[in-house]
Parts: sequence; C-alpha cells; structure tokens
Amino acid sequence: MFTCIGYAASSATTPLAPFTFQRRDCGPLDVQIDITHCGICHSDIHTARSEWGPASYPCVPGHEIIGRVAAVGVDVTRFKLGELVGVGCMVNSCQTCASCEAGLEQYCDAGPTWTYNSPDPAFPKTDAYTFGGYSRAIVVDERFVLRVPENLDPAAAAPLLCAGITTWSPLSHWKVGVGHKVGIVGLGGLGHMAVKFAVALGAEVTLFTTSASKVEDGKRLGAHRVVISRDAEAMAAEANQFDFILDAVSAEHDINAYLALLKQDGHMVLVGLPEKPMSIGAFSLVAKRRSLAGSAIGGIQETQEMLDFCGKHNITSDIEVVHADQINEAYERVLRSDVKYRFVIDMDTMPKSVEA
Ligand code: NAP
Ligand code: ZN
Repeated sequence: MFTCIGYAASSATTPLAPFTFQRRDCGPLDVQIDITHCGICHSDIHTARSEWGPASYPCVPGHEIIGRVAAVGVDVTRFKLGELVGVGCMVNSCQTCASCEAGLEQYCDAGPTWTYNSPDPAFPKTDAYTFGGYSRAIVVDERFVLRVPENLDPAAAAPLLCAGITTWSPLSHWKVGVGHKVGIVGLGGLGHMAVKFAVALGAEVTLFTTSASKVEDGKRLGAHRVVISRDAEAMAAEANQFDFILDAVSAEHDINAYLALLKQDGHMVLVGLPEKPMSIGAFSLVAKRRSLAGSAIGGIQETQEMLDFCGKHNITSDIEVVHADQINEAYERVLRSDVKYRFVIDMDTMPKSVEA
C-alpha cells in the first residue's frame, strides 16, 4: 500500500477538499500510473452530490485519467515504464459474461467496477470502494489501461476517456457516416466531442443548443448548422428530417421535441443522464417507427479504437485547465453551462501533503 493524495467530497453537500488515502501496490497484472491530468465530467458532479442515489463518502471522483506508467506488475506485458496511458470509467469487470466476452465490459452482467465509488475487489473483505482520478496516482489492471497516442496533448486528451468514448460508441454502433443527417443535442463536454466525431465521420451535423452564445463555437467545432432549441419556430422547421440524434443533455428537458425531428425509422440515442425520469409520448415513436435507445460509455477495445482514430486525425477536446483548488468553482461553472468545453485538472497542482 502507498499513500496517495486527492480531492474528495465528504458528503453530498460539502465542497471537495484535499484527502489522503491508501492505494494498493502493483499486483502481478497491475499498472501504476502517475496521473498528470484528469477531466471533470458532469457525472462526477451527479455522483459527488448523490444525485443518482446515495454515494459512498469520502468520494474521490474522476474518470478521465491521463498519466505516465510509473510501475508495472511482474506479469504485465502490454505497458512499459514512462508510456502515456489513460483510464476511463471502468477498472474491472467479470470478464466471463456475454457482454464482457463481446468486449462491452460497460454492460457486464455483474456490473463493472467503476473507477470511483464502486465496491473495490482489491479489498474484498472490507467495505472499501474505488477512488478516482482527482488524485496523484492510480493502480489499475492492465486490461483496463488504454494506450494514448503520443502526438496528442495529454491535457486535451484526458476527456477522450469518457466524453470521447461515450459519444464515439453510439456513433459507431449505429454506423453514422457519410449521407446521414445527424443532430447533436447540448454543447457540453460530451456534445462538443459528438460534434467533432460526427463531422469527422462524414455526417451532415446540426447542433441543437439552448445557449445562443454557443452558435459560433458550434460552427467552429464543425457543425454545419446550429439551431437554438428554445426557438419553437426554428424547431418546427426541423421536423421529420434526421437519421440520428444524440442527446447529451445533463438536465430535465423534453425528449419528444427531438423525437419529432427524426425521419421514418430514425434513431435517437440518449447518453445524457438527468437525475429525474423523463416522459415519452407513445405517438412520438409510433407515428414514424422511430426508435429511442440509450448508450453507456464504451468497451475497452472500442475505447482504444477511438483513441487511435483521434491520434490519426489529431482530435482532442477543447479544454480549460484548472488547478486542484479550483475544482469546486469548476463544478459551479459546469452547472451554469459555462465551460468551453471541458475542465481538466492539472495534477501538479494537487497538494504535496494534507494536514490531518
Ligand atoms: P455538460 O458539460 O454539463 O454538458 C451538458 C449540456 O447540456 C450543457 O452544456 C447544455 O448545453 C445542456 N443543458 C444543460 N442544462 C440544460 C437544460 N436544463 N435544458 C437543456 N439543455 C441543457 O455535461 P457532460 O459532462 O457533457 O455530460 C452530459 C450528461 O451525460 C450528464 O448527465 C452526464 O452524467 C452524462 N454522461 C453519460 C455517460 C454515459 O455513459 N451515457 C457518460 C458520461 C456522461 P447547451 O448550452 O448547448 O444547451
Ligand atoms: Zn464521464
């Protein structure tokens, strides 16, 4: 075991603060990573504030992790000291169910071990749970460590580990590409990666945003058109036109307004996870044989494919780097949709020691 410093929430209502905890030493198949950067995902906020159900406290969030390999276990074959690597939302899974065998560990029947706030199989006899990437180091089974192309800026690559794969996976599963008319709803961390990927895959992309201030950015990021979703007339003009819509909104909103924009047999996929249930009118789907689906992050193999695609096409996130003591302020700005388009913590700014 070794001592690690991070930032933790000690309850749903307290700001995050410096926190000292123990990490396991490298087992035979483990990779120890010195974390250089970690993105701030809206899921970190939902979890730290117990919006999806009670979290375990202290809670060290963070699942957009980038760093360098600092040590490897004796049986590790895939990674070398000093290599640039990433860790996303999962650090383990059963490896035997049909989903795991298909390389879709995020849908593991037993539930994957999430990078934070999950019972930790490394400490089976205790009630320990995992601590995430708002910390100086992490130890992860090599099967859940990703290789990050060295040509990418490490800070701007961090959000690929969640915002990137979460939008890449459905675009890839539904085979979005040339000739498809695609809508992206919400220009946040996920939404801005969805715009970049859908454009790179050759689709005709329309961004739907509630924020008039994001129109220019939407176009700069590659969207061919931008529609202000609060404008009822503009929305009505988009009816029955889209092959595929990806909804990356973090808060309650009317899904039926977007289902109405799908053409016959069109698909809408939810990746956003608002805390409250949303209602769907049967006519929204039945009228034109539309389908509505959801999608969770992505499997390890497709995460590597996405990172390699980003390396080849030089795709990263638009980020604002923050210091560890700015995490709480960053949370408030995310909640005000005031982020362009992902905050990333510079781990060099983590305290070197924490007073008891
Ligand atoms: P984010 O950066 O906060 O972006 C969310 C965007 O939603 C905002 O920028 C805003 O875009 C829009 N929005 C916010 N409040 C709204 C409201 N009341 N009505 C309509 N639009 C609103 O969040 P994120 O990190 O991208 O995450 C988005 C959601 O995906 C979160 O719920 C997160 O937990 C979830 N998530 C899911 C997965 C998965 O595996 N499925 C993975 C990661 C995250 P505009 O200003 O453009 O309107
Ligand atoms: Zn995330």
